[in-house]
Amino acid sequence: MDTQFIFSDNGKRYHTYDFYLRKRFGRKVAKLSVDGGFTCPNRDGTKGFGGCAFCSGSGSGDFCAEGGVTAQLEAQRAVMRAKWRADAFIPYFRAGTGTYAPLPRLLALWEEALSFSGAVGLSVATRPDCLPDDVCDALADIARRTFLTVELGLQTVNDEVAAKMNRGHGFAEFGQGFMKLRARGIPVCVHIIDGLPGETESDMLRTAQTLAAMKPEFVKIHLLHVLKGTPLEKLYADGGFETMTKEEYVSTVVSQIELFPPETVFERVTGDGKGEDLIAPRWSRRKREVLNAIDMEFRRRGTMQGEKHRGRLFL
Ligand code: SF4
Repeated sequence: MDTQFIFSDNGKRYHTYDFYLRKRFGRKVAKLSVDGGFTCPNRDGTKGFGGCAFCSGSGSGDFCAEGGVTAQLEAQRAVMRAKWRADAFIPYFRAGTGTYAPLPRLLALWEEALSFSGAVGLSVATRPDCLPDDVCDALADIARRTFLTVELGLQTVNDEVAAKMNRGHGFAEFGQGFMKLRARGIPVCVHIIDGLPGETESDMLRTAQTLAAMKPEFVKIHLLHVLKGTPLEKLYADGGFETMTKEEYVSTVVSQIELFPPETVFERVTGDGKGEDLIAPRWSRRKREVLNAIDMEFRRRGTMQGEKHRGRLFL
């Protein structure tokens, strides 16, 4: 008989975002990406220049033209309605650093998104070192009245690798940003990346285990994509590193998920780089295949999320 994971109703052995949203809202909910026109302090010289080595996003820096948020959400809603038949939405400020603007401007953008018809929450992606107190307090106010998640990039706990990727902050700054949000009761979604140059599977598991001990509400696991126009493109072309094989990635992701408590929700366990921009690994375009391979690996091992939480069996 198949083993039943407590936070699943379809045979998945990890806590998916889809399951979480269906249980919380009682219906299909879709995220709608919106570009608030933010740039990034790791590009404009405030924290650094050039951005993270893997990042292709630029952000326009114009804080969205008047009416831009609603217009973008309407366009996205039409797509999501056709694809998922969803009638409930979470506007998601995804591009650039979503708290990198004067507070009045941020509030205007967030309130416009929250007033969008069908909006049941809000999601804001930002850097952990871009969370001034007044912005955190404003986010806490929103979290008290709606479903808010703030997405923070960690990528790796290895400061040396983060520095090589020109990340512009280390694990200590991540911890400070994370705790600022947690102290205010704001749910956090943390992003990590597997396959960063110079990292072994053991490094990636260390990142997962460190993060699991912090018990974030949500996690996104990304596969490193080499994208056109990024500093990583040249490093890859020069033979500076190899991308992960599908087998390596699937095995690593399953081992990472096993380390997290069952309550942690996985918003993502793979990525899908835009076809025209993706240089490697091309196998990651077949997202359904990757997800199926992760399910199969859990079944082959006879394990599930939480299996190795608190280091009972690992490290
Ligand atoms: S990944 Fe985030 S922090 Fe890094 S350059 Fe891109 S927007 Fe800035």
